[in-house]
Amino acid sequence: MSEYVKALMADVKAKNPSEPEFHQAVQEVLDSLSIVLEKHPEYRNAKILERIIEPERVIMFRVPWTDDRGTIHVNRGYRIEMNSAIGPYKGGLRFHPSVTLGILKFLAFEQVFKNSLTTLPMGGGKGGSDFDPKGKSDNEVMHFCQSFMTELSRHIGPDTDVPAGDIGVGGREIGFLFGQYKRLRNEFTGVLTGKGLNWGGSLIRPEATGYGAVYFASEMLSTRGQTLEGKKCLVSGSGNVAQYTVEKINQLGGKALTLSDSNGYIYDEEGISKEKLAFVMELKNVRRGRIKEYADKYKSATFTAIDPKANHNLLWNHKADCAFPSATQNEINANDAQNLLKNKVYVVAEGANMPTTLDGVKHFLDAGILFGPAKAANAGGVAVSGLEMAQNSMRVPWTREEVDNRLHLIMKSIHKTCVEMSNRFGTPGNYVNGANIGGFLKVADSMIDQGLV
Ligand code: NAP
Repeated sequence: MSEYVKALMADVKAKNPSEPEFHQAVQEVLDSLSIVLEKHPEYRNAKILERIIEPERVIMFRVPWTDDRGTIHVNRGYRIEMNSAIGPYKGGLRFHPSVTLGILKFLAFEQVFKNSLTTLPMGGGKGGSDFDPKGKSDNEVMHFCQSFMTELSRHIGPDTDVPAGDIGVGGREIGFLFGQYKRLRNEFTGVLTGKGLNWGGSLIRPEATGYGAVYFASEMLSTRGQTLEGKKCLVSGSGNVAQYTVEKINQLGGKALTLSDSNGYIYDEEGISKEKLAFVMELKNVRRGRIKEYADKYKSATFTAIDPKANHNLLWNHKADCAFPSATQNEINANDAQNLLKNKVYVVAEGANMPTTLDGVKHFLDAGILFGPAKAANAGGVAVSGLEMAQNSMRVPWTREEVDNRLHLIMKSIHKTCVEMSNRFGTPGNYVNGANIGGFLKVADSMIDQGLV
Protein backbone atom coordinates (compact mmCIF):
# COMPACT_ATOMS: atom_id res chain seq x y z
CA MET A 1 0.00 0.00 0.00
CA SER A 2 1.41 3.44 -0.95
CA GLU A 3 2.08 6.13 1.68
CA TYR A 4 -0.70 8.20 0.09
CA VAL A 5 -3.27 5.41 0.48
CA LYS A 6 -2.09 4.70 4.05
CA ALA A 7 -2.58 8.35 4.99
CA LEU A 8 -5.97 8.41 3.34
CA MET A 9 -7.05 5.30 5.24
CA ALA A 10 -5.90 6.81 8.54
CA ASP A 11 -7.98 9.88 7.75
CA VAL A 12 -11.06 7.75 6.96
CA LYS A 13 -10.75 6.03 10.33
CA ALA A 14 -10.24 9.29 12.24
CA LYS A 15 -13.14 11.06 10.55
CA ASN A 16 -15.56 8.13 10.70
CA PRO A 17 -15.00 6.49 14.08
CA SER A 18 -17.13 3.48 15.07
CA GLU A 19 -17.78 2.57 11.43
CA PRO A 20 -15.67 -0.58 10.95
CA GLU A 21 -17.69 -1.88 7.98
CA PHE A 22 -17.19 1.43 6.16
CA HIS A 23 -13.44 1.27 6.86
CA GLN A 24 -13.37 -2.30 5.53
CA ALA A 25 -15.15 -1.41 2.28
CA VAL A 26 -12.92 1.63 1.67
CA GLN A 27 -9.77 -0.34 2.49
CA GLU A 28 -10.59 -3.00 -0.08
CA VAL A 29 -11.18 -0.46 -2.84
CA LEU A 30 -8.11 1.63 -2.00
CA ASP A 31 -5.93 -1.50 -2.00
CA SER A 32 -7.04 -2.20 -5.57
CA LEU A 33 -6.65 1.40 -6.70
CA SER A 34 -3.02 1.82 -5.64
CA ILE A 35 -1.92 0.32 -8.97
CA VAL A 36 -4.19 2.72 -10.89
CA LEU A 37 -2.93 5.81 -9.09
CA GLU A 38 0.68 4.98 -9.99
CA LYS A 39 -0.22 5.11 -13.68
CA HIS A 40 -2.76 7.96 -13.49
CA PRO A 41 -1.63 10.91 -11.38
CA GLU A 42 -4.60 12.94 -12.68
CA TYR A 43 -6.92 11.19 -10.19
CA ARG A 44 -4.68 12.12 -7.31
CA ASN A 45 -4.34 15.71 -8.51
CA ALA A 46 -8.13 16.07 -8.76
CA LYS A 47 -8.48 14.58 -5.23
CA ILE A 48 -10.88 11.98 -6.61
CA LEU A 49 -10.31 9.50 -3.79
CA GLU A 50 -10.77 12.15 -1.10
CA ARG A 51 -14.05 13.11 -2.78
CA ILE A 52 -15.34 9.63 -3.57
CA ILE A 53 -15.10 8.46 0.07
CA GLU A 54 -17.15 11.42 1.31
CA PRO A 55 -20.93 11.07 0.80
CA GLU A 56 -22.48 13.92 -1.17
CA ARG A 57 -25.22 14.03 1.45
CA VAL A 58 -26.29 12.06 4.56
CA ILE A 59 -29.88 12.30 5.76
CA MET A 60 -30.76 10.99 9.22
CA PHE A 61 -34.22 11.27 10.69
CA ARG A 62 -36.70 10.24 13.38
CA VAL A 63 -39.36 7.66 12.47
CA PRO A 64 -42.17 7.59 15.05
CA TRP A 65 -44.93 4.97 14.68
CA THR A 66 -47.54 3.14 16.77
CA ASP A 67 -47.96 -0.62 17.09
CA ASP A 68 -51.27 -2.53 17.13
CA ARG A 69 -51.76 -1.86 20.86
CA GLY A 70 -51.25 1.88 20.42
CA THR A 71 -47.76 1.90 21.97
CA ILE A 72 -45.44 4.50 20.45
CA HIS A 73 -42.04 3.48 19.02
CA VAL A 74 -39.23 5.61 17.65
CA ASN A 75 -36.74 4.29 15.09
CA ARG A 76 -33.97 6.01 13.19
CA GLY A 77 -34.13 6.43 9.42
CA TYR A 78 -31.25 7.12 7.03
CA ARG A 79 -30.49 7.81 3.40
CA ILE A 80 -26.89 8.07 2.24
CA GLU A 81 -26.62 9.89 -1.11
CA MET A 82 -23.09 8.84 -1.92
CA ASN A 83 -22.28 9.78 -5.51
CA SER A 84 -24.30 11.13 -8.44
CA ALA A 85 -21.54 11.49 -11.05
CA ILE A 86 -23.10 9.03 -13.51
CA GLY A 87 -26.81 9.16 -12.61
CA PRO A 88 -29.41 9.62 -9.87
CA TYR A 89 -28.54 8.02 -6.53
CA LYS A 90 -29.64 4.40 -6.62
CA GLY A 91 -29.53 1.69 -3.98
CA GLY A 92 -31.70 -0.29 -1.60
CA LEU A 93 -33.30 0.30 1.77
CA ARG A 94 -32.47 -2.10 4.61
CA PHE A 95 -34.75 -2.62 7.61
CA HIS A 96 -32.85 -4.63 10.24
CA PRO A 97 -32.04 -4.01 13.92
CA SER A 98 -28.30 -4.15 13.10
CA VAL A 99 -28.52 -1.09 10.79
CA THR A 100 -26.17 1.75 11.68
CA LEU A 101 -24.79 4.76 9.84
CA GLY A 102 -21.52 2.88 9.22
CA ILE A 103 -23.23 -0.15 7.68
CA LEU A 104 -25.26 2.01 5.32
CA LYS A 105 -22.17 4.03 4.37
CA PHE A 106 -20.31 0.85 3.46
CA LEU A 107 -23.27 -0.30 1.38
CA ALA A 108 -23.63 3.10 -0.33
CA PHE A 109 -19.90 3.20 -1.08
CA GLU A 110 -19.96 -0.27 -2.66
CA GLN A 111 -23.07 0.66 -4.61
CA VAL A 112 -21.24 3.46 -6.45
CA PHE A 113 -18.80 1.03 -8.07
CA LYS A 114 -21.36 -1.72 -8.59
CA ASN A 115 -23.78 0.59 -10.38
CA SER A 116 -20.99 1.85 -12.58
CA LEU A 117 -20.12 -1.73 -13.58
CA THR A 118 -23.68 -2.40 -14.77
CA THR A 119 -23.13 0.02 -17.73
CA LEU A 120 -26.41 1.79 -16.78
CA PRO A 121 -26.64 5.46 -15.74
CA MET A 122 -27.03 5.13 -11.96
CA GLY A 123 -25.22 6.87 -9.10
CA GLY A 124 -24.86 5.23 -5.68
CA GLY A 125 -26.91 5.47 -2.50
CA LYS A 126 -28.31 3.34 0.31
CA GLY A 127 -30.69 3.81 3.21
CA GLY A 128 -32.82 2.12 5.77
CA SER A 129 -33.64 1.90 9.43
CA ASP A 130 -32.96 -0.08 12.60
CA PHE A 131 -36.64 -1.13 12.48
CA ASP A 132 -37.11 -4.92 12.67
CA PRO A 133 -40.03 -6.16 10.51
CA LYS A 134 -39.69 -9.65 12.04
CA GLY A 135 -42.70 -10.52 14.22
CA LYS A 136 -44.59 -7.35 13.25
CA SER A 137 -48.09 -7.46 11.78
CA ASP A 138 -48.74 -6.18 8.24
CA ASN A 139 -50.51 -3.21 9.81
CA GLU A 140 -47.48 -2.32 11.95
CA VAL A 141 -45.13 -2.63 8.97
CA MET A 142 -47.45 -0.33 7.00
CA HIS A 143 -47.50 2.29 9.76
CA PHE A 144 -43.73 2.21 9.97
CA CYS A 145 -43.30 2.47 6.18
CA GLN A 146 -45.70 5.39 5.97
CA SER A 147 -43.88 7.29 8.69
CA PHE A 148 -40.49 6.50 7.12
CA MET A 149 -41.63 7.71 3.69
CA THR A 150 -43.20 10.88 5.11
CA GLU A 151 -39.67 12.19 5.72
CA LEU A 152 -37.83 10.33 2.93
CA SER A 153 -40.19 11.71 0.27
CA ARG A 154 -38.61 15.16 0.64
CA HIS A 155 -35.26 13.84 -0.54
CA ILE A 156 -35.99 11.36 -3.34
CA GLY A 157 -37.51 11.46 -6.82
CA PRO A 158 -37.28 9.59 -10.15
CA ASP A 159 -34.46 11.89 -11.37
CA THR A 160 -32.85 12.45 -7.96
CA ASP A 161 -32.70 9.30 -5.87
CA VAL A 162 -34.47 5.99 -6.53
CA PRO A 163 -34.45 3.53 -3.58
CA ALA A 164 -35.21 -0.21 -3.83
CA GLY A 165 -35.37 -3.20 -1.46
CA ASP A 166 -32.64 -4.94 0.55
CA ILE A 167 -32.67 -7.01 3.76
CA GLY A 168 -36.11 -6.70 5.38
CA VAL A 169 -37.53 -4.67 2.49
CA GLY A 170 -39.35 -6.79 -0.08
CA GLY A 171 -42.47 -6.42 -2.21
CA ARG A 172 -44.75 -5.74 0.77
CA GLU A 173 -42.62 -2.88 2.12
CA ILE A 174 -42.00 -1.34 -1.33
CA GLY A 175 -45.80 -1.32 -1.82
CA PHE A 176 -46.45 0.57 1.42
CA LEU A 177 -43.59 3.00 0.72
CA PHE A 178 -44.75 3.66 -2.85
CA GLY A 179 -48.38 4.19 -1.75
CA GLN A 180 -47.35 6.82 0.80
CA TYR A 181 -45.03 8.63 -1.66
CA LYS A 182 -47.81 8.80 -4.25
CA ARG A 183 -50.25 10.12 -1.70
CA LEU A 184 -47.88 12.80 -0.42
CA ARG A 185 -46.64 13.98 -3.84
CA ASN A 186 -49.71 13.29 -5.96
CA GLU A 187 -47.38 11.70 -8.54
CA PHE A 188 -47.25 8.23 -10.07
CA THR A 189 -43.58 7.93 -10.97
CA GLY A 190 -40.75 5.42 -10.96
CA VAL A 191 -39.46 6.70 -7.61
CA LEU A 192 -38.84 3.19 -6.25
CA THR A 193 -37.84 -0.05 -7.94
CA GLY A 194 -38.94 -3.55 -6.99
CA LYS A 195 -42.54 -2.42 -7.49
CA GLY A 196 -45.45 -4.83 -8.01
CA LEU A 197 -46.08 -5.93 -11.60
CA ASN A 198 -49.49 -4.27 -11.66
CA TRP A 199 -48.09 -0.87 -10.75
CA GLY A 200 -44.88 -0.29 -12.67
CA GLY A 201 -42.64 -3.16 -11.59
CA SER A 202 -40.41 -5.14 -13.92
CA LEU A 203 -40.55 -8.84 -14.63
CA ILE A 204 -37.41 -10.62 -13.36
CA ARG A 205 -36.66 -7.94 -10.72
CA PRO A 206 -37.31 -10.36 -7.81
CA GLU A 207 -35.15 -13.00 -9.50
CA ALA A 208 -32.40 -10.65 -10.69
CA THR A 209 -29.80 -10.69 -7.90
CA GLY A 210 -29.82 -14.46 -7.44
CA TYR A 211 -29.96 -15.20 -11.17
CA GLY A 212 -27.21 -12.67 -11.79
CA ALA A 213 -24.90 -14.22 -9.18
CA VAL A 214 -25.31 -17.62 -10.83
CA TYR A 215 -24.77 -16.17 -14.32
CA PHE A 216 -21.58 -14.58 -13.00
CA ALA A 217 -20.39 -17.89 -11.50
CA SER A 218 -21.07 -19.57 -14.86
CA GLU A 219 -18.99 -16.94 -16.65
CA MET A 220 -16.12 -17.52 -14.22
CA LEU A 221 -16.40 -21.29 -14.74
CA SER A 222 -16.36 -20.81 -18.51
CA THR A 223 -12.82 -19.35 -18.23
CA ARG A 224 -11.82 -22.91 -17.22
CA GLY A 225 -13.98 -24.54 -19.88
CA GLN A 226 -16.54 -25.69 -17.29
CA THR A 227 -20.26 -25.23 -16.52
CA LEU A 228 -22.46 -25.49 -13.42
CA GLU A 229 -23.80 -28.86 -14.53
CA GLY A 230 -23.39 -31.34 -11.66
CA LYS A 231 -21.69 -28.83 -9.34
CA LYS A 232 -22.47 -29.01 -5.62
CA CYS A 233 -23.30 -25.59 -4.21
CA LEU A 234 -23.43 -24.14 -0.68
CA VAL A 235 -25.91 -21.25 -0.37
CA SER A 236 -26.45 -19.13 2.76
CA GLY A 237 -29.50 -17.02 3.60
CA SER A 238 -33.05 -17.95 2.63
CA GLY A 239 -34.39 -14.58 1.55
CA ASN A 240 -34.75 -13.03 -1.87
CA VAL A 241 -31.19 -13.51 -3.10
CA ALA A 242 -30.77 -17.05 -1.75
CA GLN A 243 -34.10 -18.28 -3.14
CA TYR A 244 -33.44 -17.23 -6.73
CA THR A 245 -29.83 -18.35 -6.53
CA VAL A 246 -31.10 -21.86 -5.79
CA GLU A 247 -33.69 -21.61 -8.59
CA LYS A 248 -31.04 -20.73 -11.19
CA ILE A 249 -28.55 -23.32 -9.87
CA ASN A 250 -31.27 -25.95 -10.41
CA GLN A 251 -32.06 -24.63 -13.90
CA LEU A 252 -28.40 -24.87 -14.91
CA GLY A 253 -28.05 -28.44 -13.63
CA GLY A 254 -26.25 -27.74 -10.35
CA LYS A 255 -27.23 -28.99 -6.90
CA ALA A 256 -27.86 -26.61 -3.98
CA LEU A 257 -27.22 -28.28 -0.62
CA THR A 258 -27.76 -25.60 2.04
CA LEU A 259 -29.87 -22.60 3.10
CA SER A 260 -29.82 -20.62 6.35
CA ASP A 261 -31.34 -17.86 8.44
CA SER A 262 -30.11 -16.11 11.57
CA ASN A 263 -30.99 -19.17 13.70
CA GLY A 264 -29.04 -21.81 11.77
CA TYR A 265 -28.77 -23.73 8.51
CA ILE A 266 -30.18 -26.80 6.77
CA TYR A 267 -28.08 -29.29 4.80
CA ASP A 268 -29.99 -31.46 2.32
CA GLU A 269 -27.76 -34.10 0.78
CA GLU A 270 -30.36 -34.82 -1.92
CA GLY A 271 -30.33 -31.19 -3.02
CA ILE A 272 -32.99 -28.46 -2.75
CA SER A 273 -35.25 -29.43 -5.64
CA LYS A 274 -37.82 -27.21 -7.36
CA GLU A 275 -40.56 -28.62 -5.14
CA LYS A 276 -38.56 -28.08 -1.93
CA LEU A 277 -37.70 -24.54 -3.04
CA ALA A 278 -41.42 -23.81 -3.48
CA PHE A 279 -41.86 -24.88 0.16
CA VAL A 280 -39.06 -22.47 1.22
CA MET A 281 -40.64 -19.60 -0.72
CA GLU A 282 -43.99 -20.15 0.93
CA LEU A 283 -42.32 -20.56 4.34
CA LYS A 284 -40.24 -17.39 4.06
CA ASN A 285 -42.34 -15.06 1.89
CA VAL A 286 -45.87 -15.91 3.06
CA ARG A 287 -45.74 -17.60 6.47
CA ARG A 288 -42.53 -15.78 7.45
CA GLY A 289 -41.32 -18.87 9.35
CA ARG A 290 -37.86 -20.21 10.23
CA ILE A 291 -35.63 -22.40 8.02
CA LYS A 292 -35.57 -25.11 10.70
CA GLU A 293 -39.06 -26.17 9.49
CA TYR A 294 -37.42 -27.41 6.26
CA ALA A 295 -35.63 -30.16 8.20
CA ASP A 296 -38.88 -30.99 10.04
CA LYS A 297 -40.58 -31.55 6.68
CA TYR A 298 -37.82 -33.20 4.62
CA LYS A 299 -36.08 -36.18 6.22
CA SER A 300 -33.10 -35.93 3.83
CA ALA A 301 -32.16 -32.66 5.57
CA THR A 302 -30.52 -31.82 8.89
CA PHE A 303 -30.74 -28.55 10.80
CA THR A 304 -27.76 -27.11 12.67
CA ALA A 305 -28.38 -24.20 15.03
CA ILE A 306 -25.99 -21.28 14.92
CA ASP A 307 -23.43 -21.21 17.72
CA PRO A 308 -22.83 -17.53 18.50
CA LYS A 309 -19.61 -18.38 20.37
CA ALA A 310 -18.02 -20.37 17.52
CA ASN A 311 -15.27 -18.75 15.44
CA HIS A 312 -16.53 -20.38 12.26
CA ASN A 313 -19.85 -21.27 10.60
CA LEU A 314 -20.41 -25.00 9.99
CA LEU A 315 -22.39 -24.21 6.83
CA TRP A 316 -19.07 -23.48 5.09
CA ASN A 317 -17.55 -26.79 6.20
CA HIS A 318 -19.09 -29.21 3.68
CA LYS A 319 -17.62 -30.74 0.54
CA ALA A 320 -18.75 -28.73 -2.48
CA ASP A 321 -17.58 -27.00 -5.66
CA CYS A 322 -19.23 -23.59 -5.35
CA ALA A 323 -20.32 -21.21 -2.58
CA PHE A 324 -22.93 -18.46 -2.85
CA PRO A 325 -22.96 -16.43 0.39
CA SER A 326 -26.36 -14.68 0.19
CA ALA A 327 -27.25 -13.59 3.74
CA THR A 328 -25.28 -10.65 5.11
CA GLN A 329 -21.91 -8.90 5.56
CA ASN A 330 -18.89 -10.71 7.04
CA GLU A 331 -20.54 -14.13 7.13
CA ILE A 332 -17.32 -15.78 5.83
CA ASN A 333 -14.32 -15.11 8.04
CA ALA A 334 -10.74 -16.37 7.62
CA ASN A 335 -11.59 -19.72 9.28
CA ASP A 336 -14.61 -20.20 7.03
CA ALA A 337 -12.55 -19.34 3.95
CA GLN A 338 -9.95 -21.93 4.97
CA ASN A 339 -12.70 -24.52 5.54
CA LEU A 340 -14.16 -23.83 2.11
CA LEU A 341 -10.75 -24.27 0.48
CA LYS A 342 -10.11 -27.44 2.48
CA ASN A 343 -13.42 -28.82 1.18
CA LYS A 344 -12.33 -28.12 -2.42
CA VAL A 345 -14.66 -25.19 -3.10
CA TYR A 346 -13.11 -23.30 -6.01
CA VAL A 347 -15.92 -20.93 -7.07
CA VAL A 348 -17.26 -18.24 -4.73
CA ALA A 349 -19.84 -15.77 -6.07
CA GLU A 350 -20.93 -13.20 -3.50
CA GLY A 351 -24.71 -12.68 -3.61
CA ALA A 352 -24.72 -10.73 -0.33
CA ASN A 353 -22.84 -7.46 0.08
CA MET A 354 -19.31 -7.82 1.51
CA PRO A 355 -20.02 -11.30 2.93
CA THR A 356 -16.30 -12.12 3.18
CA THR A 357 -13.92 -10.42 5.62
CA LEU A 358 -10.71 -8.88 4.24
CA ASP A 359 -8.56 -11.77 5.50
CA GLY A 360 -11.08 -14.26 4.10
CA VAL A 361 -10.76 -12.61 0.68
CA LYS A 362 -6.97 -12.82 0.97
CA HIS A 363 -7.18 -16.61 1.44
CA PHE A 364 -9.32 -16.94 -1.69
CA LEU A 365 -7.04 -14.72 -3.78
CA ASP A 366 -3.87 -16.48 -2.55
CA ALA A 367 -5.44 -19.85 -3.43
CA GLY A 368 -6.18 -18.61 -6.96
CA ILE A 369 -9.82 -19.77 -6.94
CA LEU A 370 -12.59 -18.13 -8.99
CA PHE A 371 -13.68 -15.46 -6.51
CA GLY A 372 -16.44 -13.09 -7.73
CA PRO A 373 -16.74 -10.12 -5.34
CA ALA A 374 -20.17 -8.70 -4.48
CA LYS A 375 -19.79 -5.53 -6.53
CA ALA A 376 -19.64 -7.64 -9.65
CA ALA A 377 -21.45 -10.86 -8.75
CA ASN A 378 -24.58 -9.35 -7.18
CA ALA A 379 -24.96 -6.38 -9.53
CA GLY A 380 -27.81 -8.13 -11.35
CA GLY A 381 -30.39 -6.79 -8.88
CA VAL A 382 -29.57 -3.16 -9.37
CA ALA A 383 -29.10 -3.74 -13.10
CA VAL A 384 -32.71 -4.88 -13.43
CA SER A 385 -33.73 -1.97 -11.20
CA GLY A 386 -32.09 0.20 -13.85
CA LEU A 387 -34.12 -1.64 -16.50
CA GLU A 388 -37.26 -1.03 -14.41
CA MET A 389 -36.45 2.70 -14.44
CA ALA A 390 -36.04 2.59 -18.23
CA GLN A 391 -39.42 0.86 -18.65
CA ASN A 392 -41.07 3.38 -16.30
CA SER A 393 -39.65 6.30 -18.30
CA MET A 394 -40.92 4.82 -21.56
CA ARG A 395 -44.15 3.61 -19.92
CA VAL A 396 -43.69 0.31 -21.75
CA PRO A 397 -43.19 -3.03 -19.97
CA TRP A 398 -40.78 -5.58 -21.42
CA THR A 399 -41.36 -9.33 -21.54
CA ARG A 400 -39.71 -11.77 -19.15
CA GLU A 401 -37.39 -13.00 -21.93
CA GLU A 402 -36.37 -9.46 -22.88
CA VAL A 403 -35.42 -8.54 -19.29
CA ASP A 404 -33.71 -11.86 -18.57
CA ASN A 405 -31.67 -11.61 -21.80
CA ARG A 406 -30.59 -8.09 -20.91
CA LEU A 407 -29.67 -9.23 -17.37
CA HIS A 408 -27.62 -12.09 -18.80
CA LEU A 409 -25.82 -9.75 -21.21
CA ILE A 410 -25.09 -7.26 -18.41
CA MET A 411 -23.60 -10.01 -16.20
CA LYS A 412 -21.42 -11.16 -19.10
CA SER A 413 -20.32 -7.59 -19.71
CA ILE A 414 -19.45 -7.09 -16.00
CA HIS A 415 -17.43 -10.30 -16.10
CA LYS A 416 -15.60 -9.13 -19.23
CA THR A 417 -14.81 -5.76 -17.61
CA CYS A 418 -13.40 -7.50 -14.52
CA VAL A 419 -11.19 -9.76 -16.64
CA GLU A 420 -9.98 -6.91 -18.87
CA MET A 421 -9.22 -4.55 -16.00
CA SER A 422 -7.41 -7.15 -13.91
CA ASN A 423 -5.30 -8.02 -16.96
CA ARG A 424 -4.64 -4.37 -17.90
CA PHE A 425 -3.34 -3.57 -14.42
CA GLY A 426 -1.17 -6.66 -14.13
CA THR A 427 -3.20 -8.89 -11.78
CA PRO A 428 -4.85 -11.47 -14.07
CA GLY A 429 -7.54 -13.61 -12.41
CA ASN A 430 -8.06 -11.09 -9.61
CA TYR A 431 -11.76 -10.18 -9.94
CA VAL A 432 -11.55 -7.96 -6.84
CA ASN A 433 -9.11 -5.61 -8.55
CA GLY A 434 -10.99 -5.95 -11.84
CA ALA A 435 -14.33 -4.92 -10.30
CA ASN A 436 -12.94 -2.10 -8.18
CA ILE A 437 -10.92 -0.61 -11.02
CA GLY A 438 -13.62 -1.07 -13.67
CA GLY A 439 -16.24 0.55 -11.43
CA PHE A 440 -13.90 3.35 -10.37
CA LEU A 441 -12.62 4.57 -13.74
CA LYS A 442 -16.02 5.52 -15.16
CA VAL A 443 -17.06 7.40 -12.02
CA ALA A 444 -13.67 9.09 -11.60
CA ASP A 445 -13.55 10.28 -15.23
CA SER A 446 -17.12 11.60 -14.94
CA MET A 447 -16.21 13.49 -11.76
CA ILE A 448 -13.27 15.12 -13.54
CA ASP A 449 -15.52 16.06 -16.51
CA GLN A 450 -18.04 17.72 -14.18
CA GLY A 451 -15.56 19.91 -12.29
CA LEU A 452 -15.17 20.43 -8.57
CA VAL A 453 -18.66 19.76 -7.24
P1 NAP B 1 -33.77 -10.84 2.75
O1 NAP B 1 -34.75 -11.29 1.72
O2 NAP B 1 -34.22 -9.99 3.87
O3 NAP B 1 -33.02 -12.13 3.31
C1 NAP B 1 -31.92 -12.02 4.16
C2 NAP B 1 -31.51 -13.41 4.60
O4 NAP B 1 -30.27 -13.34 5.30
C3 NAP B 1 -32.50 -14.03 5.58
O5 NAP B 1 -32.46 -15.41 5.43
C4 NAP B 1 -31.94 -13.61 6.92
O6 NAP B 1 -32.31 -14.44 7.99
C5 NAP B 1 -30.46 -13.71 6.67
N1 NAP B 1 -29.75 -12.72 7.53
C6 NAP B 1 -29.91 -11.37 7.53
N2 NAP B 1 -29.13 -10.82 8.47
C7 NAP B 1 -28.49 -11.83 9.07
C8 NAP B 1 -27.55 -11.89 10.12
N3 NAP B 1 -27.12 -10.77 10.74
N4 NAP B 1 -27.09 -13.12 10.46
C9 NAP B 1 -27.53 -14.24 9.83
N5 NAP B 1 -28.43 -14.24 8.83
C10 NAP B 1 -28.89 -13.05 8.46
O7 NAP B 1 -32.56 -10.02 2.06
P2 NAP B 1 -31.94 -10.19 0.61
O8 NAP B 1 -32.53 -9.16 -0.27
O9 NAP B 1 -31.95 -11.61 0.20
O10 NAP B 1 -30.44 -9.73 0.88
C11 NAP B 1 -29.39 -10.64 1.26
C12 NAP B 1 -28.05 -10.00 0.97
O11 NAP B 1 -27.97 -9.69 -0.44
C13 NAP B 1 -27.75 -8.69 1.68
O12 NAP B 1 -26.37 -8.59 1.93
C14 NAP B 1 -28.14 -7.64 0.65
O13 NAP B 1 -27.49 -6.40 0.87
C15 NAP B 1 -27.63 -8.32 -0.61
N6 NAP B 1 -28.20 -7.84 -1.87
C16 NAP B 1 -29.55 -7.89 -2.08
C17 NAP B 1 -30.04 -7.45 -3.29
C18 NAP B 1 -31.51 -7.53 -3.63
O14 NAP B 1 -31.84 -7.28 -4.79
N7 NAP B 1 -32.37 -7.93 -2.73
C19 NAP B 1 -29.18 -6.93 -4.27
C20 NAP B 1 -27.81 -6.94 -4.03
C21 NAP B 1 -27.34 -7.39 -2.82
P3 NAP B 1 -33.38 -13.92 9.07
O15 NAP B 1 -34.71 -14.03 8.41
O16 NAP B 1 -33.22 -14.84 10.22
O17 NAP B 1 -33.00 -12.51 9.41
